[in-house]
Amino acid sequence: MRGTNEVTRTVVVRSVPLPRRAFRIFVELESMYRNIVELLVLYAVNNGITKFTRLKAEKYRELRSLYPQLPSHYIYTACQDAAERAHSFLRLKKMGRARKAYPEVRSVSIWLDDHLWRAEGLTSISIATHRGRVNISIELNKHYLRYVNRGWRLTTEAKVKLDHRERRLMLYFTFKKEVSEYRPKGYITVDVNEDAEAVLIDGIVYLLETDLSEVTLGYYYRRKRVQEKYDRVYGPGSRPARRIFRRLSNNERALKREIRWKLATLIVREAAKRQAAIVLERLGKGPANHMIEHIKNPQLRHRVFQAAFKGLQRAIEEKAREYGVPVIYVDPRNTSKVCPIHGAEILYGKDRHGVCSRGGETWHRDVAACYNLLLRALGDDGGDAPSRQRALIPVDGGPVPLGPTAAHEPTGVPRSLWARWKSLGATSERKLMRVST
Ligand SMILES: [Zn+2]
Repeated sequence: MRGTNEVTRTVVVRSVPLPRRAFRIFVELESMYRNIVELLVLYAVNNGITKFTRLKAEKYRELRSLYPQLPSHYIYTACQDAAERAHSFLRLKKMGRARKAYPEVRSVSIWLDDHLWRAEGLTSISIATHRGRVNISIELNKHYLRYVNRGWRLTTEAKVKLDHRERRLMLYFTFKKEVSEYRPKGYITVDVNEDAEAVLIDGIVYLLETDLSEVTLGYYYRRKRVQEKYDRVYGPGSRPARRIFRRLSNNERALKREIRWKLATLIVREAAKRQAAIVLERLGKGPANHMIEHIKNPQLRHRVFQAAFKGLQRAIEEKAREYGVPVIYVDPRNTSKVCPIHGAEILYGKDRHGVCSRGGETWHRDVAACYNLLLRALGDDGGDAPSRQRALIPVDGGPVPLGPTAAHEPTGVPRSLWARWKSLGATSERKLMRVST
């Protein structure tokens, strides 16, 4: 049975700069909202509450009488906001990863619901405040219009953030769309390692370099250097050090997100074009993945794992939902250790190349892994089942040349190159030849 998914996307739109007086209303609103959220988060964490309904049931009346001038639905949305913050904080605490006793309500965006805002035509919205309704003109952008024109539905959930410097509101709109999955006609398998993603499409294994662990480690050591230097000068945990930390973390997060998103889009588009399903490894829970055993620091290991494995998978899943591409998970055990043709062990030397213990042919680790994932997706149990033959024949009907060693070598693509691609089609192959010579 094919599923239907609801896909959600957030789009940011700016208001025009507001007159001082109008902007002040939102500054007041933000400060009241922040107080309410802080109060609620404290209460929720103290009482182990993570459900919006319970938080509302226990605190609504009290907050309503504290802020009688505020439209009542702000208490509702603040309860939702606070419940979500409490939920993620308590989860971190349970995992032992919360640094403070209480979550800090640092940045606030005001959550709106259908009672608190409505569209007034295409370029203006009205927001309910403690001073009555305020009309705001918005600057439409390409991004927003693209969603409107492509059949996405604008929902009533929205968030507002204040840009104090420019006296604008940043409006976060939520679009939704129903997408149904197609029935797959073939498979694209994806094998992730720390620094690259191997993708098997039409009998070719592309090794798309992500450098994700390099990015993680690079930022880790930079932070460490900053810390050592600032601790010497200002003492531990100083304010300037914290500021630099925050900037570095933001940069790191943005760079990783961009890498993941671009890569996921590239792969999912190829799958959609061929009406193929994407085959991924079923990952274990913890960062105890055998591929990052060499990283001893547990915190660092967790981050490399999140960035390189979990993060990439999640990006693919998310993008796949948008395009209706089915995603299949298979057992990743020993995928690179067994020869896809002979089912015998591959003996590896120092690098990523190994030799089949039965056939004597050479295998690149990621190529073997990709083919084995494909075999597992086809339901092969490792014997000489006919599906093994089927797996080694690509979609266009020609046999995969597994004889010559050259075919066992993946086509390596550096990030600087694939990041500019729209597809992995013919144009990319021409570019690749130029790269490899
Ligand atoms: Zn073999």
